[in-house]
Amino acid sequence: MHSKSRLPLQASSDSPLHLYVHIPFCIHKCAYCNFNSHVRETPPWDEYRRALLAELTHWSRQAQFSGRRIATVFFGGGTPSLWSAPQLGRVVSAIRAAFPEQVEELEISAECNPASLDDEVAAGLREAGVNRVSVGVQSLNDERLAYLGRLHDAQGALASLRAARAHFDRVSGDLIFGSPGQNVDDVRREVDALLELGLDHLSAYALTIEPGTRFGELFRLGKLEVSPDETYAALFAAIEVRLEQAGFRHYEVSNYARPGQESRHNQHYWRGGAYLGLGAAAVGCLESGPGSARRWRNQPLPERYLAEVAGPEREESEERLGPEEILEEALMLGLRTADGVDLEAAQRRAGVDPRAGREARIARHVATGSLLDEGGRLRVPRERWIVLDGIVADLF
Ligand code: SF4
Repeated sequence: MHSKSRLPLQASSDSPLHLYVHIPFCIHKCAYCNFNSHVRETPPWDEYRRALLAELTHWSRQAQFSGRRIATVFFGGGTPSLWSAPQLGRVVSAIRAAFPEQVEELEISAECNPASLDDEVAAGLREAGVNRVSVGVQSLNDERLAYLGRLHDAQGALASLRAARAHFDRVSGDLIFGSPGQNVDDVRREVDALLELGLDHLSAYALTIEPGTRFGELFRLGKLEVSPDETYAALFAAIEVRLEQAGFRHYEVSNYARPGQESRHNQHYWRGGAYLGLGAAAVGCLESGPGSARRWRNQPLPERYLAEVAGPEREESEERLGPEEILEEALMLGLRTADGVDLEAAQRRAGVDPRAGREARIARHVATGSLLDEGGRLRVPRERWIVLDGIVADLF
């Protein structure tokens, strides 16, 4: 994931803080990628570390963060594994010094690219304080990896995962499904290979064609083959069956985990609440009471972020969220999870009744089996997750 303060913001010190740190550099741009990632021959690492620390100091001095315990830290990108682990470790130490920690062990995750994750890097990340890694495998088929524009091959991905497993108990793998020609046997083999390595978490994303990407341009020119919807549905189901047989829980549309190994950082986003983002394009969100929040996004271009980090232009944009926006987001994100939306919690955050004005639409979806109304909770049954976007869109 990857987003000016003049309001009295949420002062509550009992809700923990979740921190995202964006590392925006990559050595190559993948064909499908619309993340805020920038190819630089020599990334300005020292300047970037100084900027992150300056931004951290800025936020830790704000009254609204006084006494806030920190629960999770997530280094995303871009490619955090490109960075020197000692540099990343200095940021981890500064975060720990800036905020008190929860009693529970602080979850510190880092996204890693197989092209820059070997045994030495994995050991360095562990030494830096990282305790969970998420490896961008995407595929274990060389042709499909080349098609996606990845720099690694299947053997390289497996070697990176072995290195990760040698140093971390908590390892997640990312897969992209739906490349042309991929069938259910292919995804089963990929999932099985990841399971054999002892991963405890897996994220499986459908390949999407986004504007501004190489795939987006090829699609516009009519030169990109795309898989039919039925193929996506079959691959989605095959991944789910395989992982559930192995004891994983499908806890969010794109995420599976062994019990207790869910990403606490991402669960926080889906349940709603405050978070802080550091770095280029990082997003922060603070609630100032029921039905009121401010969300902002830092300058996305690394050089602009570095130039503006200490000034009033660090933020590229901001939004004021009112009751309807907060509620809409709570429903949208909550319905993507196996637990669904806690309606009472959504009402506390949004300050309005989630059912008001939606009774008829909710009833219609309940009648067709697309929604489960469990009193205090609304859920989309898993067999309807493949059409989830349509169900959510209809509720608004
Ligand atoms: S490595 Fe990740 S962030 Fe970098 S270009 Fe590829 S998909 Fe995008």
